[in-house]
Amino acid sequence: MRLSRYFLPVLKENPSEAQIVSHRYMLRAGMIKQSAAGIYSWLPLGFKVLKKIETIVHEEQMRAGHIPMLMPTLQSADLWKESGRYDDYGQEMLRISDRHGRDMLYGPTNEELITDIFRSHVGSYKDLPLTLYHIQWKFRDEIRPRFGVMRGREFYMKDGYNFDLTKEDALHAYNRHLVSYLRSYERMGLQAIPMRADGGPIGGDYTHEFLVLADTGESEVFYDSAVTDLTFGDRAIDYDSVEQCQGVLEEFTSKYARTDETHDEALFNEVPEERRRVARGIEVGQIFYFGTKYSEALGANVQGPDGKQSPVHMGSHGIGVSRLLGAIIEASHDDKGIIWPEGVTPFHCGIVNLKQGDAEADAACESLYEALTAAGLEPLYDDRKERAGGKFATMDLIGLPWRITVGPRGLKNGVVELTSRRSGESEELSPEAAVQKIAEIYANHQTGRGF
Ligand code: ATP
Ligand code: MG
Repeated sequence: MRLSRYFLPVLKENPSEAQIVSHRYMLRAGMIKQSAAGIYSWLPLGFKVLKKIETIVHEEQMRAGHIPMLMPTLQSADLWKESGRYDDYGQEMLRISDRHGRDMLYGPTNEELITDIFRSHVGSYKDLPLTLYHIQWKFRDEIRPRFGVMRGREFYMKDGYNFDLTKEDALHAYNRHLVSYLRSYERMGLQAIPMRADGGPIGGDYTHEFLVLADTGESEVFYDSAVTDLTFGDRAIDYDSVEQCQGVLEEFTSKYARTDETHDEALFNEVPEERRRVARGIEVGQIFYFGTKYSEALGANVQGPDGKQSPVHMGSHGIGVSRLLGAIIEASHDDKGIIWPEGVTPFHCGIVNLKQGDAEADAACESLYEALTAAGLEPLYDDRKERAGGKFATMDLIGLPWRITVGPRGLKNGVVELTSRRSGESEELSPEAAVQKIAEIYANHQTGRGF
């Protein structure tokens, strides 16, 4: 993409409504624009990152054997009346009536709808196990939308639902989700720690929230610092293996890590004092096993091998796709702007032409652009007639992890400058070597062309 032809409405001033850094940078970098409280338009740069995150989530869900689909944003209230949640959900649910006076709602989540689909089409254990998921906009009329996309009213969420014959099978689905979530967050350059969470009205021990540590997080968290040493890495995993998935769950959840809702001071005190941490975190996902709560309420039964009917065992699992943009920025920025991890960056590298209009510099930039594109990468070429300082400031703000700087002086010696946004370090290389180095860096990240 050439910046002169892109739509990147960068703001020079800090917007006064933004209280935290991710919100400020998303506005300043021209990624989002508020349309109403807690509701945003996704401008091209923000949309690009949103889609990259969404793609990672899809790839990891499908890798785990989960099946994508799409349910609507608007739902009829009937199913919610059947499950009893129409009244329970309270004011967070946006209720709408259509021209015929029928009760509708903008879905805050989809347990009812998916259970209805299931009961209409599945009646036998032979069709199980089954996990369906979708990535769709949700609406919750939050009392205090704030922090930009972190606590919106309209937000983008992956929600998945598993259907199993037995509790054991459903717990395997739970563990599979935990593994796939760990992989997803790591590909986004994030450490998200599974923490024992509150079952809420559903109760039970089977729920974990995934938290990204950040001072601006809304949750207070308590953990053994040893959990931050754990990484999933690129180990192979057989998602069908009960033992392997259970092993990962045990590895990642055996150390103390809890949100304030489930915090137990006595247990926490058993952690060696030098490893006890009290901090704040951003919730980027949650997994849940809730048994037969919805299948009983909605009559979603399956016939077992013995011919008997029983309510199907279910769980639900969510990832806050739009919130993740904020979480990633909170975890990865400096005082000049965002620093995107390679896995989600909107463009793979920036090209800064220090002397636009200089025939040699222009030609060198064009051939870099072509070579990067031919290598399957997507560069953002700042081809505007602007001062170098302004170009650098824009690149730093929008946070591309790599920048190639091209100027007449370097070209005389046959070199361009390659700079890491994260370390700030630069090296001089031939244009060919710079392209090769960037291609090698991204060979480890499955990030294709964006939108
Ligand atoms: P919270 O406690 O933050 O209100 P929740 O526990 O109600 O979230 P879930 O129902 O578990 O949320 O939804 C799954 C994920 O969706 C959450 O982990 C979070 O990342 C994201 N999410 C929830 N509410 C919002 C919101 N208002 N804005 C953006 N993302 C959200
Ligand atoms: Mg939650």
